[in-house]
Amino acid sequence: MDSSQFRSAAKGAIDEIADYYDTLEDRPVLPSVKPGYLRPLLPDGPPEEGESWDKIQADIDRVIMPGLTHWQSPKFMAFFPCNSSFPAMIGDMYSGAFNAAAFNWICSPAITELETIVMDWVCNLLSLPSCFLSTSANGGGGIIQGTASEVIVTAVVAARERLIRRRLSHLPDGEEKLDRAAEMRGKLVALGSEHAHSSTQKAAIIAGTRFRTVPAPASANYSVTAAALKQTIEECRAKGLEPFYFTATLGSTGTCAVDDLPGIAALASSHPDIWIHVDAAYAGSALICPEYQYLCPPIASFDSFNFNLHKWLLVNFDCSAFFIKRRQDLIDTYSITPSYLRNEYTESGLVTDYRDWQIPLGRRFRSLKVWFVLRTFGVKGLRGFIRGHVKLGEYFAELLESRPDVFSITTAPAFGLVTFQIQPPTPSPTAAEHTNAFAPDAQAQYSEDVNRRTKEVYERVNARGEYFLTSTVVCGKYVIRVVSATLAS
Ligand code: PLP
Repeated sequence: MDSSQFRSAAKGAIDEIADYYDTLEDRPVLPSVKPGYLRPLLPDGPPEEGESWDKIQADIDRVIMPGLTHWQSPKFMAFFPCNSSFPAMIGDMYSGAFNAAAFNWICSPAITELETIVMDWVCNLLSLPSCFLSTSANGGGGIIQGTASEVIVTAVVAARERLIRRRLSHLPDGEEKLDRAAEMRGKLVALGSEHAHSSTQKAAIIAGTRFRTVPAPASANYSVTAAALKQTIEECRAKGLEPFYFTATLGSTGTCAVDDLPGIAALASSHPDIWIHVDAAYAGSALICPEYQYLCPPIASFDSFNFNLHKWLLVNFDCSAFFIKRRQDLIDTYSITPSYLRNEYTESGLVTDYRDWQIPLGRRFRSLKVWFVLRTFGVKGLRGFIRGHVKLGEYFAELLESRPDVFSITTAPAFGLVTFQIQPPTPSPTAAEHTNAFAPDAQAQYSEDVNRRTKEVYERVNARGEYFLTSTVVCGKYVIRVVSATLAS
């Protein structure tokens, strides 16, 4: 494909994408294909001779479209939204065009410098504490990584190595130090709420440490309290284990619960060796609205914070912002500089080499799409977008409340997410029944019935394919989750 063929192919692709967005609402959100549908539609291998673009493009409609779940459809109410936007798509197009693996500043100064500036813009936009700015005296800063899971692995491994460095700094490098480090790693425990996203457990597996959950019961609104965290830390220590990392959740996956950030911040000062990371993968985007920024001040007491712009801030997948209070904590773990990576700018200490803040070496030009989105929508536009979704959650809850004979809300709208159950025709055990000897059985039977009905309704809605919802189990309750999104305009 030469540049003139590219012009015509790309224009055709853009027309097709714009048509797709214009007709999204009319499509059933879920595909009706069966597993393995694709192989019979494709040849056994690539063609010997290159094919024309027309033939390739036609296959989008023929083979890809039937197997797509339409995440951008307003009928997609599952998981969390993964909102896209046209300016972000254009950003990805330029990124693909420049195709620079900007691991060191010298690999493309614009890529590194735009990322640093845009992350400072985002830090201020969310009203995050200024210790996360690249210009902070404590050496903070932001980096864009692919996903929240990648960020959390990066934080967990850096937390592990920071603790080992601190504890073994008195030993010279050598066998004894390595043996002691290996011994320590076996005792380390990463902690997270029982409702924390599975990425923390996965990160602990990758880091070769243990993982323990901190209870966050319904009576605490599914949030980790400082007291619960303290107790889990003490229980671990009583068993000879060493908690070294905790994920505080700002918007849990199941119900959008927020851990007790002020309480945990107060506890943090007496546990300086525990790295506290705030996972705000979905809900973090709401912090651009002043009405949510009361959540931000305690974050100054923690080590790091992440949220996914690819979830709720109109930046196409993938784009997870990772803010760190002391970038040196990452650099001390991840900086390895063989001779082929050395250059005068790195040696000068005047530049940022983002390879030292992450697991991979190469990296994409992701800040471009963030920059395009921030400038296209402006702060007002983005706030309006978030508030629109929050309102949809409130509206949905009102609809549920208008039919108490059918629905019961389990968790009230939080960041647009509502969870609910389906009521059986038989009423809940009465107060009188609670007092008789059979009450616990009656209550358990009732809860089981509610769970069964909720699951049945959930499966029937999804089987129709028109709407896509997800369900989850929180503290033994089977609930349907609904979080609605609209396209940006
Ligand atoms: N953390 C939370 C709270 C999430 O809800 C999710 C995904 O929904 C993740 C982490 C993982 O996100 P990613 O797909 O970016 O790894």
